[in-house]
Amino acid sequence: MDDVVVIGGGIIGTSTAYFLAKEGRKVKVIERDPTYKNASFPLSLGGFRRQFFQKENILLGKFAREFILNISETLKTKKNPSPTASMVANGYLLMFGPEHAEEQYKALENHKACDAGTKNIKGTELTKYFPYINSDGIETATFTDNKTEGWIDPFMFHAALKSKAIELGAEFIKGEVKSLNEINAKTIVSAAGCWTKELLKDIPVVPQKHTVFRVKCPKHIPEMPLTGDLTTGVYWRPEGKEYLAGSPISVFDANDLEPAWNDFEELVWPALAKRIPAFEELKLTGGWAGYYDCNKLDNNAVVGKHPKYKNVYMASGFTGRGLMQAPGIGRALTELITTGSYQSIDISAFSVERVLNSEVRHEPYVL
Ligand SMILES: Cc1cc2nc3c(=O)[nH]c(=O)nc-3n(C[C@H](O)[C@H](O)[C@H](O)COP(=O)(O)OP(=O)(O)OC[C@H]3O[C@@H](n4cnc5c(N)ncnc54)[C@H](O)[C@@H]3O)c2cc1C
Repeated sequence: MDDVVVIGGGIIGTSTAYFLAKEGRKVKVIERDPTYKNASFPLSLGGFRRQFFQKENILLGKFAREFILNISETLKTKKNPSPTASMVANGYLLMFGPEHAEEQYKALENHKACDAGTKNIKGTELTKYFPYINSDGIETATFTDNKTEGWIDPFMFHAALKSKAIELGAEFIKGEVKSLNEINAKTIVSAAGCWTKELLKDIPVVPQKHTVFRVKCPKHIPEMPLTGDLTTGVYWRPEGKEYLAGSPISVFDANDLEPAWNDFEELVWPALAKRIPAFEELKLTGGWAGYYDCNKLDNNAVVGKHPKYKNVYMASGFTGRGLMQAPGIGRALTELITTGSYQSIDISAFSVERVLNSEVRHEPYVL
């Protein structure tokens, strides 16, 4: 009998393997596609932030930054002596119209309670801080300028975690698990991302296709934060000398990962040009689509022991924030498995029971 089997070697499975191996557990990770062609994490924007509504999401975002900041030491291995996640700590800027302002003021109380270090300004003050932005229709905006939010290279981060997990004794195996009954282990962790339902039919996590565009603009604004315009749902950030911009339109039950190219001209470009006049001159240079692991109940993660099994734990449903939550979730699951309860950040609000009982606890800030 194996000690721990993790199903899915994406960012959540690999982080969990790392934290469990650090505690001396013998971990086997089973991954059906070690190239990760369709896995969510390499197709993500790499963003990490603390600007959420729910306190647990704020605290997990804070831990992500702390963890990533230290990986040159903590994830150092013989094979990878200088691990990096290529962090760009430009911050986040989220802008809200009058229809979302009240909700954001409530969220700010949670930011304060969690010591998130965010700053809030009136829409009319935006150009003082971000002179390239047109503030029309923005009631309030929140941002950080203290290097606590930004983005990373998801693949490099995954590679660093994997290398360390392996050095600590974890084993990564190519294989597809068709049913949990196939596994003979003391502890099973399902980290199957948006495919969780294939193994756990009662979990309402489904693939939700999102498109990201790559664009070139003659005006380069390298200091720009990852910016979300909640009046349109469009978000963007610099990527080298170009920019990445996400479409707010998503599709459930998509058969393929072909980007929704029409969204660019019809929706994304007009929204970008309205908010940043320099973006009127844009050239589309590429794009891709990937799946969010969407928790259809309330956009929150589903993490913990599955009550219908003796030895099955799971983590999924991150709905656009699984990369940044991976360090906190790997640590939390390890605490739960090894001690029976959460020791650092209490994420019992994400329990499987809550989701099975359809107790909604909505996280509104999905980008
Ligand atoms: C366009 C886009 C932008 C995003 N932007 C961000 C962002 O800025 N910040 C952020 O934090 N998050 C972001 N995300 C979300 C993030 O990528 C996901 O939440 C995260 O990758 C989920 O991690 P995971 O390990 O659960 O899933 P995955 O990364 O999908 O990994 C799951 C793995 O499990 C394997 N697997 C599944 N079933 C089986 C099975 N039965 N047997 C064996 N292997 C199996 C799969 O092959 C896969 O490799 C974004 C996602 C997309 C698509």
